[in-house]
Amino acid sequence: MRPEIAYDCDVLVVGGGIVGLSTAYAITRAAPGTRVTVLEKEAGPARHQTGRNSGVIHSGIYYRPGSLKARFAVRGAAEMVKFCAEYGIAHAVTGKLIVATERSELPRLHGLVQRGRENGIPVRELGGSQIAEYEPEVRGLAAIHVGTTGICDFVGVARQLAEASGAEIRYGARVERVDRRPELGVAVRTTAGDVVRARVLVNCAGLHCDEVARLTGDDPEMRIVPFRGEYYSLARPELVRGLVYPVPDPAFPFLGVHLTRGIDGGVHIGPNAVPALAREGYGWGVVRPRELGATLAWPGSWHIARRHWRYGAGELRRSVSRAAFTTAVRRLLPAVTAEDLVPTAAGVRAQAVLRDGTLVDDFLIKEGARAVHVLNAPSPAATASLPIGREVAGRALAMLATV
Ligand SMILES: Cc1cc2nc3c(=O)[nH]c(=O)nc-3n(C[C@H](O)[C@H](O)[C@H](O)COP(=O)(O)OP(=O)(O)OC[C@H]3O[C@@H](n4cnc5c(N)ncnc54)[C@H](O)[C@@H]3O)c2cc1C
Repeated sequence: MRPEIAYDCDVLVVGGGIVGLSTAYAITRAAPGTRVTVLEKEAGPARHQTGRNSGVIHSGIYYRPGSLKARFAVRGAAEMVKFCAEYGIAHAVTGKLIVATERSELPRLHGLVQRGRENGIPVRELGGSQIAEYEPEVRGLAAIHVGTTGICDFVGVARQLAEASGAEIRYGARVERVDRRPELGVAVRTTAGDVVRARVLVNCAGLHCDEVARLTGDDPEMRIVPFRGEYYSLARPELVRGLVYPVPDPAFPFLGVHLTRGIDGGVHIGPNAVPALAREGYGWGVVRPRELGATLAWPGSWHIARRHWRYGAGELRRSVSRAAFTTAVRRLLPAVTAEDLVPTAAGVRAQAVLRDGTLVDDFLIKEGARAVHVLNAPSPAATASLPIGREVAGRALAMLATV
């Protein structure tokens, strides 16, 4: 006979970023009465990736048709605009330009037009001289204008999801141990010594999701390799009206320094991508030997270094030299000078890497006994957070029905 267990909640969510909070929101919407607790180690929501990104509602144009990224970004962008409008959260549908500055980029630009059509995203093709209609200071050989891209306050969205979910949210609660018994349930202990018992655990720990998965006893078969993205703000924001992106490199679709006029009216330039020396390593001075050791012990990290050292060296140079960064930006915005670039807050991407060095491209969600793990939720996961939350919630509720 099963012992009677006093569960503190039905579903325990680890991580109060936009994905964890959207999951909590989706659970209580789909199954009112389900008791959800969210444990977040910081003093408030969205202190990591969700609060340190470009703030762009992505259209979904880049992603492979049929992938979770494509489906969830296209749907998520429309839902995000609606959510912001409904709750009075700052947002705007601005559209964006993707600009080719070299002939070699033209076939890829045309490929994006095709991909946009496949993903149901309307785009307008522009010749070099038409770019000025949107961005008088931007130069290029050709461009496309994507109408559905926007900007918003993702921290505001996360706060609203937390409030509207009705979940119990405990801040300052870092999960440091998990005791998962498939026949009984999951008990987690926080650093402060509190114990929370749940029927099902959902892991939305972002930069620490692989560690939390391993605490449950599941092997995630990936590791998070943290890549810092550094930004500058533009001292002359009048040089840029909206959002301007380069044509992405197919090997690194998440890279490419872009120009973004944010919801606060300021223009941000970045991010690049350099290895971070800690999961939350927002500057070169932040080094956590245990985390760095874990990254170096993962064979996938070395495969990446061997395959991509040339590209990485360029990114490192742009990280330490403002002149090199300026040169990269000038390809799109010739009027910019090094004095226009003012360093500003950086973000760190939680990129899942497999043992053989494959950078996991699509969103990755896996299940273990009584556990759902979100193991890869990089950009555009903030845009796509409402559909991702529903997907994770659906899996957690299905699991709940069987235990
Ligand atoms: C530089 C950069 C630019 C980006 N630009 C965009 C963009 O323009 N548009 C877009 O859609 N996406 C963008 N993204 C991606 C987007 O920010 C992320 O996909 C999204 O925020 C992921 O949300 P999350 O909830 O999974 O992670 P996070 O926001 O990192 O949340 C995870 C939470 O888990 C908590 N946590 C971790 N471990 C524990 C533990 N043991 N116990 C308790 N709590 C724990 C953390 O404190 C954190 O709050 C960008 C990302 C970066 C880094």
